[in-house]
Amino acid sequence: MQCSNALPAGCAKRRLASCMVIPLFVNNKCWGVVCFYSQRPQFFDHFYRERAGELSNELSYGLERLINAQEMHRLARTNTLSGLPSRLQFEEDIARLAASGAQGTVLLVNINRFDEISSAYGNAAAVGLLRAISQRLRTAVTEDMLLAHVGVGRFALFLPASEPQAPADFVRSTVAPMLQGAYQVKEHKIWCTINAGGAMLAEDGSTADELLIKAWDALAEARDKEARFGMYDRDADRVMSRQISLEVELRDALERREFVNYYQPKVDLRTGKLAGAEALVRWHHPVRGIIEPNEFVPVLERTGLVIAVGRQVMQRAMEDWRSWYEAGLEPPQIAVNVAPAQFRCDSLFSDIERALNTAGAHMQPLSIEITESSLVSDHSRVIDVLSRVRALDVPVAIDDFGTGYSSLAYLVTLPVDVMKIDRSFVMKMSQDAGYMGLVSTVVTLAHNLDLKVVAEGIETEEEAKLLKLLRCEQGQGYLYSRPVPADEFAALLKTH
Ligand code: C2E
Ligand code: MG
Ligand code: MG
Repeated sequence: MQCSNALPAGCAKRRLASCMVIPLFVNNKCWGVVCFYSQRPQFFDHFYRERAGELSNELSYGLERLINAQEMHRLARTNTLSGLPSRLQFEEDIARLAASGAQGTVLLVNINRFDEISSAYGNAAAVGLLRAISQRLRTAVTEDMLLAHVGVGRFALFLPASEPQAPADFVRSTVAPMLQGAYQVKEHKIWCTINAGGAMLAEDGSTADELLIKAWDALAEARDKEARFGMYDRDADRVMSRQISLEVELRDALERREFVNYYQPKVDLRTGKLAGAEALVRWHHPVRGIIEPNEFVPVLERTGLVIAVGRQVMQRAMEDWRSWYEAGLEPPQIAVNVAPAQFRCDSLFSDIERALNTAGAHMQPLSIEITESSLVSDHSRVIDVLSRVRALDVPVAIDDFGTGYSSLAYLVTLPVDVMKIDRSFVMKMSQDAGYMGLVSTVVTLAHNLDLKVVAEGIETEEEAKLLKLLRCEQGQGYLYSRPVPADEFAALLKTH
């Protein structure tokens, strides 16, 4: 603090006779001064000097807080590495735009393998690369757009709907060519590629958080398809959430035992007599009624629930078999479908044993059907499982034969008993001589290997006749019967 009689120029004109100057300190540096003047000489005595000292401290303290807060505000809204606006700034800008009813696209641009670049070339090189990329991006954006550095190796842009270029074009013709390629960072030459995803303000969300998450989903989806850019797909998301709620419903259905078995007869094509049946699951929904498996089996498979449901179907099939048998009927062998997940699971053997015990018969009450997809992995394990199932006196059929990609030569090496020719072949056979030849070859080959052949999906007399001519043993299809509930199947058994 300075008190002086030597007054600055101009004081005399205003008849000022004394002055006191107090310094203000911010972060230990003199930031400025406050001057007090009086028209009386020697006015600033001890009392004033003490008060001025207190005032200096308080003003300095207030100023320091204010300036530091402003600095913090600035720092929080700027990415210190690139100097671009930060994620927080982007969030505030998007909130402002959303409140004003603006429309447009939030783009998320990701530098691929940025972490790897960082560990390969070091932190300094990675920062250098980020700065170079930021510099290029700055030149790509117009005044109406927003640009921010929102995460490690990630940049966000906002393209207003009024932009003449569509987001996909903007990425393909501006952002990608500008950012991809080689960067010289100090002594390193670093190659860079990008991926981008977009989500629409208003339609897909109203906050930067929501939009960036959805843009990231779109980016990941695009990357899976080896595309450079993708827009968020609302419909796919709706399908996904429908499937999640379906999964919850299916778990409840399993607990409430809402899955029921229908049975479809298999017929001996030579005699026209009942030769077997296939158990086909249905969901007896409390509100929607009977639901067909194509609506829920794929979800059961994806969630692994198919193991528990399949076990129930097999157990129920043998309970039904036993009750028909005990009622004096002659139930045929029941084929149960075994999903790939069940086939991979060791509990398959104990499930089969338990079901066989329930049936309590000396004949073969049970067989299983498996699709090619269960059979293509791990050859020796497949052979082992098939052999163990057959050792339980349970024949095995290859279901939907002809629809997979595995070669016939491979399939015939497996220890199986039956080939079930897929419905699509049966359908085309009567119209296309090529298919007729194909089915004929399969039947001959199967017979040479001592396998029986069952044709699926026979709907017409003509198809039945052709298959009989080709010496196919059994047929299954709407021509004979649709899949029916257990009590109807029992009624059908009585007429045979
Ligand atoms: P899949 O094992 O090939 O069963 C044959 C399907 O063809 C059944 O459909 C049957 O109703 C249908 N079908 C039979 N004859 C005809 C016909 O003449 N014309 C037409 N258009 N269709 C016919 P469904 O019952 O809808 O079952 C579809 C698929 O769902 C089954 O194909 C099987 O892969 C799966 N599935 C059904 N039940 C189970 C089960 O308990 N466990 C497992 N893992 N999968 C099952
Ligand atoms: Mg089947
Ligand atoms: Mg089939």
